[in-house]
Amino acid sequence: MSTATTNPTHPSPLKALIIGGGIAGPACALFLHRVGIHATIYESHQFITNIGGILGLAPNGLRVLDSLGLADKILKQASVTEEMMMRNHYGMTLGAFPTGKRSRYGFPSILVRRSVVHETLVQATKEAGITIEYGKKVLRVEETDEKVVVYFDDGAAAQGDILFGCDGIRSTVRDHVLAFSGHEKREPHYTGLVGVGGFIPSSLVPNIDPKAEPPVIMTHGPSGIFAYGYLHANNEWIWWSTFEATEEQARGDIRSMPDDELLRKLFAKHGTWPSPIPELIKAETGPMVRLPIYDVDPLPVWHSGRVVLTGDAAHAVAPHSGQGVSLALEDAAVLGKCLREAGTEVRAAFVAYENARKARVTMVVEEGRRRGQAKKEMGFIACWIRDIVMMVMAWWLTDSALDEWFGYTVDGI
Ligand SMILES: Cc1cc2nc3c(=O)[nH]c(=O)nc-3n(C[C@H](O)[C@H](O)[C@H](O)COP(=O)(O)OP(=O)(O)OC[C@H]3O[C@@H](n4cnc5c(N)ncnc54)[C@H](O)[C@@H]3O)c2cc1C
Repeated sequence: MSTATTNPTHPSPLKALIIGGGIAGPACALFLHRVGIHATIYESHQFITNIGGILGLAPNGLRVLDSLGLADKILKQASVTEEMMMRNHYGMTLGAFPTGKRSRYGFPSILVRRSVVHETLVQATKEAGITIEYGKKVLRVEETDEKVVVYFDDGAAAQGDILFGCDGIRSTVRDHVLAFSGHEKREPHYTGLVGVGGFIPSSLVPNIDPKAEPPVIMTHGPSGIFAYGYLHANNEWIWWSTFEATEEQARGDIRSMPDDELLRKLFAKHGTWPSPIPELIKAETGPMVRLPIYDVDPLPVWHSGRVVLTGDAAHAVAPHSGQGVSLALEDAAVLGKCLREAGTEVRAAFVAYENARKARVTMVVEEGRRRGQAKKEMGFIACWIRDIVMMVMAWWLTDSALDEWFGYTVDGI
């Protein structure tokens, strides 16, 4: 299905700097390579394998990866989750929510380790001859009519014609773009929830039969949610849940809490819930992922003269939407397309990109916030109402209900 091409036919005179070697950074570099723009990626951390927890990747994200020739590789290491089963903490099934079927969109929704997506993209940049410089934390950006310069924490600097801010939710490049265009700095908004999760080798829970369980199931109760599924490629169970916490606790106590203490708290919340939830919590040995969940209010602008934002730097969306990575990949593809169409008129390309992306991304950020509310602790009556709403929605939601999300295609990439 892939239409990947790797050799740029028209080398561009533009030199690009990419800040951030997460998901958006390598994806942007690959699409720039396609249109003949040479880029160097600067990443603040050293490269470490196997970082992060589990990610949802939707058909729209896989479609972009396929255009880079990378979807098949990722699909082999993922778990296909074309619907998510919902039940309440009494074990009552509330219904199945469509999450994107291969038969409808060409690609399914999947659950996959973030590290698989990250490392696949990084490997592809290496194969394309793109340099990633690690240990290069950007402290400051300066731009003039002629050039853009970044200054690193090691005292060095780099200069280019255009710069891509792919530096995630706490973006330094975002601060520059907003200040350059006369807007106030935008701080990420803490959602009140900390995501926790882990991976459990199936050998530790031999009594749980993956074939007897739906691919992914989320249980809702008064103390929040607990979700789990099975990653066949690795013979492991994956699970995630959320803790309500103040921002101070999220960045302090919960991060530093020993695994066994966190597991005790998790068991207190969900230990009486239907099997196999208690068994999975008891089998977890850590280390667990702990991610305070933030999003960012829509930005007034995504670019300055020579600098453009992508991924979480432009629009951090809470993971409840399952679209964070997919949106970052879409951004990279749309930017590549706009730059190809605009040639060296980068300003025109950035305007076209922002216009093409803003409404779609805002819709997903808002839905991510709504879904997060349903994961918070709630009383008996609120739970009862939530169960009824979920049952009605599961009955009412057809496969086509999310065409706008999953059917999105970047033409001509
Ligand atoms: C280590 C890590 C683990 C994650 N794990 C999960 C997970 O388990 N589940 C989930 O849903 N989401 C996770 N995320 C978030 C998810 O990757 C993003 O929401 C999404 O993929 C968007 O990608 P992005 O490239 O815009 O941002 P990110 O993936 O966050 O990448 C941003 C990159 O920029 C780098 N960076 C930041 N500031 C600077 C700077 N000043 N100079 C240079 N480089 C800088 C960061 O180190 C990072 O590598 C994780 C992010 C990171 C960084």
